[in-house]
Amino acid sequence: ASSALPGTAVLVTGAARGIGMAIAEYLAKCGAKVVVTDVKANAEGIKTLTGHSELIVAAPLGDLTDDEFRKTLIQEGVKLAGSEGLRGLVNNAGVGLFTDLLEGTDPAEVQRCFDVNVAAPLRLAQIWAQGRVQHKLGGAVVNVSSQSSSVVIPAHTSYSVSKAAIDQVTRHLAVELGPHQIRSNAVKPTVVRTEMGRTAWPEGAPETKAMQLKIPLRRFAEPCEIASVVAFLLDDARSGMVNGACVPVDGGFLCC
Ligand code: NDP
Repeated sequence: ASSALPGTAVLVTGAARGIGMAIAEYLAKCGAKVVVTDVKANAEGIKTLTGHSELIVAAPLGDLTDDEFRKTLIQEGVKLAGSEGLRGLVNNAGVGLFTDLLEGTDPAEVQRCFDVNVAAPLRLAQIWAQGRVQHKLGGAVVNVSSQSSSVVIPAHTSYSVSKAAIDQVTRHLAVELGPHQIRSNAVKPTVVRTEMGRTAWPEGAPETKAMQLKIPLRRFAEPCEIASVVAFLLDDARSGMVNGACVPVDGGFLCC
C-alpha cells in the first residue's frame, strides 16, 4: 500500500534535537507536513530543523507543563497544519531522571519527571483529540515511551514509572478514542545516543557496556530507527488496524 502520510500534518514535541528531530525529519521525507515545537531555550535547534525541509514548520515554543501553552500550541498548530488540521500527534518531549533509589531523589525533580513525561502528553492528547472529535476527523497519536517501562533498570525509578504510566495512557487513548477513529500507540526504544541517552548511559562506563551486551543485536538504536517506527504507526495505510500497541524498538532487549 502507498503511504497515507503525504499531505497529512503531524505535530512533534521535543523536536529541537535527538529522537524528536529525527522523527520530524523522517516524517518530512515521507511527505508529511511537520509542525514542530520545543522549549524556548532550544529555539536554535528548531531553526536548524526547519531549515532542513520546507515541509517542517515551527509552532510556538514553550514549556509543555504549562496548560495555557498547551492550548495555544494545539490552536496555532492546527492553523499551521492547513485544511485537515493536525492528523497526527507525536508526544516525544521527555526528561530523564536517573538517580540511585537509596541516594534519594528531590521530590521536585520527581514531580517534574511525571509532569513532563505523563501529565503533559496526556493533556496535550486530550486537547488535540477534542478538536478532532468535534470536527469528526480521525487521527493517530504516538507516544514515545521506553524499554524501561517494562523492566527494572537500577537508578531509573522515577523515569521508569513515568514511562509505565505513558504506556497505560496509550491504552486508555486507544480504547476511549478508538470509536472516533483516532488510534493511539507507543514506541519503546532501547538506548539511543542522544543527550538524554548519554546522561543515563555514559560512554565507556561498565554499566553501559553491560547494557549493550544485554541487547540481542549487541548495539544501541539510531534515532532514525525510532523515527521509522513512529512514521509507520502514524500511517493509516500501513498501521490502520494497530491501536493500543506499545511497540519495543529495542533490538530484542525485552525478550530477555
Ligand atoms: P533529549 O533530551 O535529547 O531531547 C528531548 C527534548 O524534549 C529536548 O529538546 C528537551 O528540552 C525537550 N523537552 C523536555 N522537557 C520539555 C518540556 N517541558 N516542554 C517542551 N519540551 C521539553 O532526549 P531524547 O531525544 O533522547 O528523548 C526523546 C524521547 O525519547 C523522550 O521521551 C525519552 O524519554 C525517550 N527515550 C529516549 C531514550 C534514549 O536512550 N535517548 C530511550 C528510550 C526513550 P530541554 O533542553 O529542556 O531538555
